[in-house]
Amino acid sequence: MSDACCSLLSAAPESEEREWTLSDYESALARWCPGCGDHAILTAVQRLLEAEQLPPEQTMFVSGIGCASRFPHYLSTYGFHGIHGRALPIATGMKLRRPDLNVFVVMGDGDCCSIGAAHWIHAIRYNPDMVALMLDNGVYGLTKNQTSPTSPKGMPSNTQPRGAFLPPMNPISTTLGVTNASFVAQTGDWLPAHLYATLQAAFRHHGFSFVRILQRCPQYTTAIYDVAVRDPNLVELMVHPDGVVVPELDRIIKNKVPHDPADLDEARRLAEPDGKIRLGVFYRNETHPVYEETRAVPARSASEKLALLGAELDRYAV
Ligand code: SF4
Repeated sequence: MSDACCSLLSAAPESEEREWTLSDYESALARWCPGCGDHAILTAVQRLLEAEQLPPEQTMFVSGIGCASRFPHYLSTYGFHGIHGRALPIATGMKLRRPDLNVFVVMGDGDCCSIGAAHWIHAIRYNPDMVALMLDNGVYGLTKNQTSPTSPKGMPSNTQPRGAFLPPMNPISTTLGVTNASFVAQTGDWLPAHLYATLQAAFRHHGFSFVRILQRCPQYTTAIYDVAVRDPNLVELMVHPDGVVVPELDRIIKNKVPHDPADLDEARRLAEPDGKIRLGVFYRNETHPVYEETRAVPARSASEKLALLGAELDRYAV
């Protein structure tokens, strides 16, 4: 056998030997407003893809509609820019058909908590193994400043100029209240080390990982998070070896509360508003059945499928 032939036989497939770099995940220049928190979140996601060495052809980003939903355009992975509120059922279908893919969903607060609320609740219950990022800026930004389900009470917008008249919904409490809640965390775009560590924990969790990212929108809702950005004393980190551990923040954020993410009752208590912006993993439970695994069907030949179909149709013969 010639040397050339030997080297061909021993060559590993490209995806096995290739080392992915950050530039392999970068795509078009992001067109979000200057200072928008989405830029920092995109950077953290690209860092995660590189650190986990996720092959771009095995990675899928699904989004709905809104500023956050431009995410798939800015990554050189597969992507699906879906319709408003429907990112989760699209992603669940993908995961069901291709459980081998790394699936990420990116939604805004209007997208997830309003028009997509039913899908959100059932995705938690179905528990597919994917990461769902909810970028919460408390406003409909893409359509130019309308009240969203998470807008703070009293915040003026184009739809409620005298101020939002309802208290905001709490996406963390809602998620923790749904059957099969599996991984629930909160982080902020202005704390890159915490953001990255939370994304990594979410990705490594087996099940549906819901991450609410407090996201600054300097265009419309500067007031929501700026006070916490300027005053780290308003932030409290939940700390535990099974949560996210970020030593880089020790010098900046002094407020810490020990919290075991296995404790659902305590997670629900900590999620209630009490004036603190609480970051970290509220809850983690890998014992719930994962949707695509419960629905997995064995591989069958075409003739086996035809025989099964015939038998099924025979059940309705009269
Ligand atoms: Fe970001 Fe707000 Fe601009 Fe949208 S409107 S791109 S959320 S700063």
